[in-house]
Amino acid sequence: MTDLFGDAAGIVLSLVILWLLLRLVLWTWRYNRRQMARRRRQAAYAGYINSETWKALRQEALERDGHRCRLCNARRGLEVHHRYYPGVMGTETVDALTTLCHPCHEGITEMLRARR
Ligand SMILES: [Zn+2]
Repeated sequence: MTDLFGDAAGIVLSLVILWLLLRLVLWTWRYNRRQMARRRRQAAYAGYINSETWKALRQEALERDGHRCRLCNARRGLEVHHRYYPGVMGTETVDALTTLCHPCHEGITEMLRARR
């Protein structure tokens, strides 16, 4: 044990430790990159949700659905849900949207998250 790098076991151990460190550095780098991309997407989405384009589409969906939740028929606390997202936000049509009350929207969102 006086010379860790002097024998074959020591070399293998060193390589394993080096490999693990490299994996850790790569994992951390990828994780940070993903977090940054996620924050950018969230900021872009927040900007879109406040846009006139979204407000007009949202209103169109509410009117099409008779200002009622498509699942439970509630009239209060309505939200407009994206059934799917377009490649570029703001290019979706009203067909991508559906009206839901807050509890139904939360239920659907939870169910979809669990599926991922
Ligand atoms: Zn509902």
